[in-house]
Amino acid sequence: MTQKRRLGIMGGTFDPIHHGHLVAASEVAHVFSLDEVVFVPTGLSSHKEERRVAAAEDRYLMAVIATASNPRFSVSRIDIDRPGPTYTVDTLRDMRDLHGPDSEFFFITGADALAAMLTWHDTDELFELAHFIGCTRPGHRLADPGLPNGRVSLMEVPALSISSTECRDRVRAGEPIWYLVPDGIVQYINKRALYRDHAA
Ligand code: ATP
Ligand code: MG
Repeated sequence: MTQKRRLGIMGGTFDPIHHGHLVAASEVAHVFSLDEVVFVPTGLSSHKEERRVAAAEDRYLMAVIATASNPRFSVSRIDIDRPGPTYTVDTLRDMRDLHGPDSEFFFITGADALAAMLTWHDTDELFELAHFIGCTRPGHRLADPGLPNGRVSLMEVPALSISSTECRDRVRAGEPIWYLVPDGIVQYINKRALYRDHAA
């Protein structure tokens, strides 16, 4: 019997993608021996509709630019091409339909996002579809997770206290984001004049 392909799925708004995302994906790929990590930018984010989010196409292209040099990283359009808000269960169902039963899925998410997800979803189906990996970062801790055995792992990634919110705020304030995001992302944000006119 051939071994199942171990596929990481990193969902996020990626508005913009930054080195925290990339380090987390790289570290999880190493620790869990993943064959590939697919970055999946969200469509309309169910949590972030209250503020304006950069166009899906910009967020998708930034993810492509940021991951292009890593042969184990790729980017999927499944969430941005599906109408309506993105729900993780749809992402995982679509991934399973796309890749078939020969793949095993590892959904990578920040511990903060994981804690929220486990409170509002039909978690039974989620846990059937994927193993969940919650990455801790500074300032975020999983409070009493009550997690089912075997389907959720928590791991610490090298502490990078970078967030997309901080990157957007810095751009708006005219402060540099060099080295918080890949060089190509600094240039793409400049070229497209992103994050300059947000109503905060
Ligand atoms: P925002 O500030 O807009 O919420 P964000 O930086 O949290 O953006 P998201 O696109 O919301 O970025 O994050 C996608 C996933 O990556 C989430 O699961 C989030 O918890 C995780 N993540 C974000 N930043 C980091 C980081 N610095 N280290 C580890 N994981 C991170
Ligand atoms: Mg976030």
